[in-house]
Amino acid sequence: MSDSLLGRAERLDADDQLAKIRDRFDLEAPSDQAAGDAGVYLDGNSLGALPHGVAARLQDVVEREWGRLRIRSWDESGWWTAPERVGDRIAPLIGAAPGQVVVGDSTSVNVFKALVGAVRMAPQDRDEVLVDAATFPTDGYIAASAARMTGRTVRPVRAVDMAAEIGPRTAVALVNHVDYRTGRLHDLPGTTAAAHAAGALVVWDLCHSAGALPVRLDADGVDLAVGCTYKYLNGGPGAPAYLYIRRELQPRFDSPLPGWNSHTDPFGMRPDYEPADGAPRGRVGTPEILSMLALEAALEAWDGVSIEEVRCKSLALSDFFLECVAALVPDGMVESITPAEHALRGSQVSLRCERAGEVMAALIERGVVGDYRRPDVLRFGFTPLYTRYVDALRAARTLADVLR
Ligand SMILES: *Cc1c(COP(=O)(O)O)cnc(C)c1O
Repeated sequence: MSDSLLGRAERLDADDQLAKIRDRFDLEAPSDQAAGDAGVYLDGNSLGALPHGVAARLQDVVEREWGRLRIRSWDESGWWTAPERVGDRIAPLIGAAPGQVVVGDSTSVNVFKALVGAVRMAPQDRDEVLVDAATFPTDGYIAASAARMTGRTVRPVRAVDMAAEIGPRTAVALVNHVDYRTGRLHDLPGTTAAAHAAGALVVWDLCHSAGALPVRLDADGVDLAVGCTYKYLNGGPGAPAYLYIRRELQPRFDSPLPGWNSHTDPFGMRPDYEPADGAPRGRVGTPEILSMLALEAALEAWDGVSIEEVRCKSLALSDFFLECVAALVPDGMVESITPAEHALRGSQVSLRCERAGEVMAALIERGVVGDYRRPDVLRFGFTPLYTRYVDALRAARTLADVLR
């Protein structure tokens, strides 16, 4: 059984159009692992692997741009315009035309900017903010705070019910495109259309979808969106997040964090605030140049990559993993909470399992790195740029060994 799975995995890898992209990543074995055995990394949905070229680029940024050019680099090395430039580099991956995406600050901070900015566009009598009831915690905390600050109330609603629940009292709904725990993909076009029909706005959190599956912000009429860059976009630990503000809404976007970087004349040092036009309106203060330029270098891994092809491989990988788990893991020991239906699946597989924390620790010990979410979920992220079918098989086989 396992041998025929191995034959299949090897054939699938041999036929895989994206296999050559894997060379763009540094997937060396950790030093505590046997040479030649890089292990299996299925946690790129938490921290993407290191693309080649990032280290050399950062060295140049530090030694030449900072070390030698110093303050001149804001201009001569293009530091000042990096938030928009890197934003335009991310834009095609999320279906956005240039000029609508700006990079900087954490996802949490951008959720705040987007949400308060959206509420400020809504009439006063729209007094509720809807939030995905199963949201990643930071989004929920910020939604509650944003509602309190703007005199609205927050109402948690299941993402699957969001379209039906948005009504005449809704100012804005904040929804996760993919549920970080279950890997369920939510209906972005349908929910956005329902919100617009009801006269409300939607903020989408793309943390677990951008870089894993096609996102069409412009075509689907999305108002505002945020996402992080250290997961499927491989920007590195703490890499800055991005904020998308639909072009038509930009003139109405009243940032709750107006800083000198989003002023129309930042070096005028004027006491009165006058916001810049366009995406820079989403900026706040001095950008985190080192991590932003690491991200910019990391995005080169996407050159020539079709996100549709990434999606096909992502689904095929997670299908194959589920098939291997079904074939190898004794019955009843794990249960997938990730939808089997492709239209409802992101790029991870979450398995409910007894003593999941200990099971994940044992997997990591054996070189298979996923992660554990309390109380009972094993998460395996499939990052099609560098995950192979043989990796999916090895993860399932190791899981079966651990559970036996
Ligand atoms: C990872 C993630 C975040 C992370 O927020 P940070 O501010 O970068 O820590 C936010 N929202 C969702 C849905 C996430 O998956």
